[in-house]
Amino acid sequence: MKPPTTRLRTAAVHAGESPDPATGASAPNLVMSSTFVTRDAAGFSAHDLDEESGFLYTRWSNPTVAQLEAKLCALEGAEACLCFGSGMAAATGLLLSLLASGDHIVMSDTNYAGVAELGRDTLPRIGIGVSFVDTSDPRNVEAAIRPETRLIWLETPANPICRLTDLAAVARVAAAHPGVRIAVDSTFATPVATRPLELGAHYVMHSLTKYIGGHGDAVGGAVLGSREDIAALRLEAGIHYGGVLSPFNAWLIMRGAATLPIRMKAHEENALAVARFLESHPRVTRVMYPGLPSHPQHGLARRQMDNFSGMLTFQAGDGPQLAERMARELRVIHYAVSLGHHRSLVFWMDTPSLMETSFRLDGAQLESYRAYAGDGIFRMSVGLEDPDDLCEDLERVLG
Ligand SMILES: *Cc1c(COP(=O)(O)O)cnc(C)c1O
Repeated sequence: MKPPTTRLRTAAVHAGESPDPATGASAPNLVMSSTFVTRDAAGFSAHDLDEESGFLYTRWSNPTVAQLEAKLCALEGAEACLCFGSGMAAATGLLLSLLASGDHIVMSDTNYAGVAELGRDTLPRIGIGVSFVDTSDPRNVEAAIRPETRLIWLETPANPICRLTDLAAVARVAAAHPGVRIAVDSTFATPVATRPLELGAHYVMHSLTKYIGGHGDAVGGAVLGSREDIAALRLEAGIHYGGVLSPFNAWLIMRGAATLPIRMKAHEENALAVARFLESHPRVTRVMYPGLPSHPQHGLARRQMDNFSGMLTFQAGDGPQLAERMARELRVIHYAVSLGHHRSLVFWMDTPSLMETSFRLDGAQLESYRAYAGDGIFRMSVGLEDPDDLCEDLERVLG
């Protein structure tokens, strides 16, 4: 199932898909079967699986999920992909399959809260050392590497503050330390904006729940990388840990992924319009959007992102009070967590609360966080509605 072209928009539509040879069906089949009738007496252990094996059992691999995996490979420029039941299952599957007790990793000090808490609570409990650093300065990454370091975990733009990490610069740091690999949570960027494997990363992780699925109706995750790395991941994290993606969700997400490039273009256009509106509003004190010249890393954003995505943050007035107003009075924008959907979403993220539950920063690291987020931010995922309606909705609650 080779894509007919590597041009992104065509690959998004066609890669991984081909008309069904039996029926001629143009759209992908949804194969819900959990088991497959085999003509050869195949081995039963996961270790008997190889690339040539047919389908055996859906936790190993499934035709519909495999079609989505092939599409994601084409978009990300990866050799191989493994889908998971959620973004968190993808992150946990990758971390636990790569690391053993005594190993050490360097992790961004600000990232998706679930991964942040996994890094602070779960990994140390099983003997894995974690250093949290502000990865926006590659020298911090360099300083944290130890002889037992196995992995650098990055996220750019980082949730929720939209702080960027220079992936090529961190890859140069890691290249001096054989055995240190790089994984990038690229959920905010999507392959339309940034392709971390081209910049020296070994693994890319996505929450498919967000932009790639794009419609807020299917939870899923994926890890992409080399054929060899993903085969090892499939054996350990897919077959043994078992957090695999449902074929039905794969089918929904594949339908969303087909329009990813054109949706990202529209997300970017709308986000830029909303960011400019907010920046000119007297009640708004700060707007962070990688596509605005006022973003402290706008130069890096221009180099590393082919699309500025639809995620922005802003600070305005009394945050908690405004949040309550938004929850009651917004008419178009949903006051809700999550992101990357066609519907616009906004949510208040209070700095002291997030420090307590998730990031636990102090000193220079807390200062760097606060330079982006102050006492708290409204994180907005700008959707695909008419931007004038979004601005009017915000105008009404901002007063
Ligand atoms: C949502 C998200 C995740 C977790 O994904 P789920 O599909 O919700 O499990 C991980 N990283 C980032 C950046 C996310 O936004």
